[in-house]
Amino acid sequence: MLDIKHLFHDTIVAHATGNSRSAIAVIRVSGARAFPIVEGIFKGKMDFENTSHLVRYGSIVSDQNIIDEVLVCPFKSPKSYTKENVVEISCHGSPIVVELIINLIVSVGARIAEPGEFTKRAFINGQLNLVQAEAISDLIESNSESARKLAISHLKSGISPKIFQIKSQIIHLLSYIELELDFSEESIEFADRNQLVELLIELQYECAELIESFQFGNAVKKGFPVTIAGKPNAGKSTLLNALLNEERAIVSSQAGTTRDVIEGSLFIEGYEFRISDTAGLRDSEDFIEQEGIRRSWDRINHAGIILGIFDSSIEDGKELENLILSNSKPDTNHLILIANKIDLISNTFEKRRYIGLGVSLKSKEGVKCVREELIKYVKKNYTPEQSVVSQIRHVKALEKCLEHAKNAHRELLSMNTPDIIALEIRISMQALGELTGEIFNEEILDNIFSKFCIGK
Ligand code: GDP
Repeated sequence: MLDIKHLFHDTIVAHATGNSRSAIAVIRVSGARAFPIVEGIFKGKMDFENTSHLVRYGSIVSDQNIIDEVLVCPFKSPKSYTKENVVEISCHGSPIVVELIINLIVSVGARIAEPGEFTKRAFINGQLNLVQAEAISDLIESNSESARKLAISHLKSGISPKIFQIKSQIIHLLSYIELELDFSEESIEFADRNQLVELLIELQYECAELIESFQFGNAVKKGFPVTIAGKPNAGKSTLLNALLNEERAIVSSQAGTTRDVIEGSLFIEGYEFRISDTAGLRDSEDFIEQEGIRRSWDRINHAGIILGIFDSSIEDGKELENLILSNSKPDTNHLILIANKIDLISNTFEKRRYIGLGVSLKSKEGVKCVREELIKYVKKNYTPEQSVVSQIRHVKALEKCLEHAKNAHRELLSMNTPDIIALEIRISMQALGELTGEIFNEEILDNIFSKFCIGK
């Protein structure tokens, strides 16, 4: 592992509670000089060097002028978020107060933290692994209860305890294979080949399951993408408004009014659904409408769930079903067909003709059923207890692990020499090390932490 602890000799400072005006704000200072720096500008009773986790009231002063009345709390290394000496200053939440205090701290020897630098230090100093560091970011960004739960589970138990159990067993056997290399001339086998094959099969299975879980993990984190699609005038905008319970899109009997994608978020039982209303699907000569329809198809292809809606008083829905199914990816897209305007159908025979869920959105009849269909689909495919990945970085590492586990498996079955088997296993294990951050380089870290906000 690359040792970059030496890079952190600076003391850093940042606003930890966002830029908006609030009752109080927290400024965080971390590094070897955090205590003397804050001590130099704080007027109050606090013995920074000999105190930890204790809050004291006082003032921040500059040239005898009080900038603000504050509370300070020192966290002595290693019992702090970054494992360095940390001071948290709670001041009043005016942007100007925060700015003045930060500028003062910088003028006496700290520098402004880079995005994610506190968490990066926590990682380098062994407080968290990379999956946990990313989970902290996910927790802060979470918009829904299910996203929060997922982030907490990644923070507490990583993405899959099982895969790391298999890893330690494989590494144990790998050490025997590597021992065989020292006795290569005698062709002695120390490692149990059958056990190794079994473990590699288990590893491949776990990796494949986790890779597949990304579609749901990512949707739990960012909201399930739902696209409303159908011909003009089917009631798409009415459906969006009814689901969101607000007049988001223009409803009109004139066909072709929705030309751009209109979005909104719906929360059901703690899950977020990102609903998009799209331009009606039809052949059009109008250049702007054509572009709208192109965007509709783009959304349909990227949606986890498609709400295909049609006017049941004039068609039975089969044409729309065929159109959507033949132009989308059935393995990743789930189609829910909605037969709208059933209020316009008077006889029972006609009512039996259409396929899908019968609704009358104008009077909001059936909106509850649409919501139930959405949540039913999520619950069928995801339980909060299951291990899922929600970061593309994790998927890439798992794909690499899987590929080399497959290679090692193949080499074992063809009774190849231990050096080739050991090499493939090592690369596969390395990929898991990259996932948790046991193995990392600066580029990977920069990539991860630059996505964090300042102060995290
Ligand atoms: P879009 O073009 O698919 O977005 O359709 P709109 O939501 O703009 O609706 C087109 C027309 O159908 C509007 O005049 C709506 O008021 C009407 N409409 C929508 N839902 C219903 C319904 O359930 N019953 C009836 N009778 N009319 C509806």
